[in-house]
Order: sequence, then C-alpha cells, then structure tokens
Amino acid sequence: MDTIGHFIGGKRVAGQSGRTADVFNPATGEASSTVALANGADLQAAVDAAREAQPKWAATNPQRRARVFFKFVELINTHMDELAALLSSEHGKTIEDSKGDIVRGMEVAEFVCGIPHLQKGEFTEGAGPGIDMYSMRQPLGIGAGITPFNFPAMIPMWMFAPAIAAGNAFILKPSERDPSVPMRLAELMMEAGLPAGILNVINGDKEAVDGILDHPDISGVSFVGSTPIARYVYGRAANNGKRVQTFGGAKNHMIVMPDADMAKAADALMGAGYGSAGERCMAISVAVPVGEETADRLVAALAPKIESLKIGPYTDPATDMGPVVTKAAQERINALVEKGIEQGAELVIDGRGFKLQGYENGYFVGGTLFDRVTPDMDIYREEIFGPVLSVVRAKTYEDAIDLPMKHEYGNGVAIFTRDGDAARDFASRINVGMVGINVPIPTPLAYHSFGGWKASSFGDLNQHGTDSIKFWTRTKTVTSRWPSGIKDGAEFSMPTMK
Ligand code: NAD
Repeated sequence: MDTIGHFIGGKRVAGQSGRTADVFNPATGEASSTVALANGADLQAAVDAAREAQPKWAATNPQRRARVFFKFVELINTHMDELAALLSSEHGKTIEDSKGDIVRGMEVAEFVCGIPHLQKGEFTEGAGPGIDMYSMRQPLGIGAGITPFNFPAMIPMWMFAPAIAAGNAFILKPSERDPSVPMRLAELMMEAGLPAGILNVINGDKEAVDGILDHPDISGVSFVGSTPIARYVYGRAANNGKRVQTFGGAKNHMIVMPDADMAKAADALMGAGYGSAGERCMAISVAVPVGEETADRLVAALAPKIESLKIGPYTDPATDMGPVVTKAAQERINALVEKGIEQGAELVIDGRGFKLQGYENGYFVGGTLFDRVTPDMDIYREEIFGPVLSVVRAKTYEDAIDLPMKHEYGNGVAIFTRDGDAARDFASRINVGMVGINVPIPTPLAYHSFGGWKASSFGDLNQHGTDSIKFWTRTKTVTSRWPSGIKDGAEFSMPTMK
C-alpha cells in the first residue's frame, strides 16, 4: 500500500514523525493507502522552504504571477478525468460531482489571473500641500490553510490561489481523509511554473494544525471545517496574533411557499439534500413548507423520488449519490436518525438499512426523510452531514422565517416562491450569509465572496472574491512630500488639512 508523505520545497517527501493514518475507499470500506501525519519537524521543513522562496516570489511582477495561474487552469483541464477519479476514490462522491468540486476551485484560480488589477493600491495626488498619498497591498508572508474532507479540490484552491497570487508562500494542511488530490494540485502548480517552496502540503491531524496555529513565522490562517474546530482555530490563531478566518458547520433551511412550483421545489430539494450524500456545507437539511397543504404536497412529491434514488459507488455512472466518508460518519448519522425517532419525529423513509450487493462493507446510508420535526429535536439542532432531510411544518411565512433566524448556524438559506415581495423581504431580513431565491444551493461564484453568518463563520473577511485578496494582503499607506513642499521650522501641533 502506498504511503502519501508531504509536498515540501517543490517535491514529495516522506514524513518524519513515523505516525500514519489509513485512507479508505468509502464505497468498499477498504484502505487504499496510508498518509503520513506531520510533526513539528515536518512543519518546520515546510516553513523553511516557504521562508526562503517567498521574498523572490513577492518581488515577481503580478503579471508573471498571474501567468502561473493561467497555465495551472490549463493543466487542471487536461488532468480533469484523472483528478476526478482520484477524488471520488477517497471521498466517495460521483465523478460528475468531483468534477464540480474541481471546477469550482479552478474558477478561483481563473479569478486570480486578474491579480495585477486586484492587488492595485490607491493614489491621491495633492492630499496636502506638495503631499501625495498612496496605499499598497503587500502579501502577509507565509499563509496556511486547513481544509475539510468534503471538498478536497475546491477549498484548497479557494485558499492557496488568492494567497499565492498575492505574493505569499503557502502551507496547506488538507483533510487526512482524502489527501491525494491536494498533493496532485501542488504538483500541477509546479508544472505550471510556480517556484519550489511557494506551495507546500503538510498532511496530518491535530498535531500539524496546532503547529501551524502556534508557529511564529505563519502570519495568516484560513480554516474550513466543523464549527467546534473552527471556534478553536479562530481563538488560538488570533491569540497568537495571526490574521485568521474560519468557516464552520451549517444547517441550511429551504422555505417552500404555498405558491411555489412544487415539482421544481421537490427536484431542488433532492439535489440539495441528497447530492454528495448530504456532505456539503451548503446542503439543504431542513425543508420548511408553509401551510399544512403545502407540507402534504411536498412530502408526497419527495417520498417516491427518495425511494428511487440510485445509490452506489462512483464507478457506476448511473449513481446519484455515493457513500458517506467514513464508518464513523455512517454510525453517527444512523445514531442521529434513531434519536429523531425517539424524540418523536415521523420517519417517512428510513435509509439506515441500505445494503448494496458487492459493496457490503461500504459506508452507505440510504436517503432518509423525517416529517413533523420540531426545533427542540437533535436532528434539527445538529448538523447531521448525511443524506437526511427534515421537514419542519410552519403555519405562516413569519413562522417559517423565524426558524433559520433563530438557528445557531447561518451559512446558506433558500426560499421557493413566485411572490417577489416575499422573496425580497426574505433576502433583506434573513440573518444568513448566502441566500437563494428559487436556488437551493446559493454558492456564490469566484468573483463574489463566500461565507456564512453566526456559528458558520468567525472573522470578517470571506473566501474568494475581492475579500480573499484583502485577507491575504495587508495595507501600507505612504504619505510623501518632496523638499519643495516642506515648510521651514518645526511643527508641534497635530497636522491637519485646515
Ligand atoms: P473537521 O472539523 O473534522 O476537520 C477540518 C480540518 O480540521 C481537517 O483538516 C482536520 O484534520 C482538522 N482537525 C480535525 N480535528 C481537529 C482538532 N481537534 N484540532 C485541530 N484540527 C483538527 O471537518 P470535516 O469533517 O473534515 O468537514 C466537514 C465539516 O466542514 C462540516 O461541519 C461542514 O459543514 C464544514 N464545512 C464548512 C464549509 C464552509 O465554508 N462553511 C465548507 C465545507 C465544509
């Protein structure tokens, strides 16, 4: 079995810790490789490589930095099939879904091809007598990214593309569940012309993460994962004086108004609730039909669709939805479903017993639907991160909007309606970061920014879009005057523009 090491100084290297973890194919439940778990010495090697390479990279003009990304985008397209198969084999999602994961990351690489424009500063001529004032956006130095298992291509690219384009060196700590694609992305960046040491990949677990959070030479940290770890990373990195942004879990609601096109709303819920086996931070896990009649129609439309979901391995092109990522995830989802029953929700479709011939050890969970879920239940409060959709019936629009408003998480939300007034009111009042109007998964494109509210995100700048350039750079403002503009004599009072 292969051992995946780290990517440091432009090449693959073995780990120094002696600790490893198994990487599984979730469809078969078999280990496909082992991955090294970094210790302080591995991290230090990455920091040393980054520190040596970064000043020269930052001094490279932005058009040349951009050209690496033009080439990288081309290489991603050439290697699309290989990357998608590798991604699916460790994550379990379908090949088409893996391609979506890769393309959504690649779009951020396309966005940063505009870095010469994106990183421009501001200039004011004549801000005072003989005084010009200008600002520059300079890289932080060494940035680090800690990423989750569910988008092993997209989220690493969301982080390293803007960081590197802006002149930083970068250390990526991907999820230890699916490390192969991040390693390949680093190789493709090298092939695209990136100097060695600018993008390093450290595989590992908590030890590697803590090392990053405490390392004095790492100036910025971006994290995506579950909320408890996001909170922890935010606190520890900020306490160490780093710039930090962390993005956490979600419980995304979709409100279905009585006037909504029910067939379209049900189709939207199928994709958003069960695509990628519900393992998306923008998955819809709560449907909120308004009125009993709407609820009855919605459940009646969903049930047969869920029963006919095609669940299988990524190698079967007819598959709608693959397994969940680990045995532990499968067991946790099944236990939450049991809790839902105990706490009084109506289990309309039970996916727990799902078995597939030839894949008996795969981590499959069948599509599951609960009706009459209430806000006090664990299946409503917790992020399940599996193919389990809860229907919470609301009497009125006000009752419906109250649910996501009061929920701990605030990542994504959607409303399905034909009523423009309701949609506009919803978009304006809702306290959630990303809103869909007749769009179930409103994930913003690369040139807008991505981020939730409340316990779904800590920090003030979002991922991609112009926020990402701001995050990975700091502003320096220069006030300049030449001898002809300088008055004789010392000035002791605060200078003003009187
Ligand atoms: P996770 O929190 O378990 O792991 C995320 C990263 O943190 C991994 O790299 C992991 O190695 C590391 N980590 C895990 N435990 C740690 C610990 N105790 N100390 C330090 N580091 C630790 O998340 P996951 O299971 O890989 O991903 C799923 C979660 O990510 C879900 O909650 C999902 O909603 C969330 N997510 C959020 C977004 C978003 O943008 N808001 C996007 C994708 C996923």
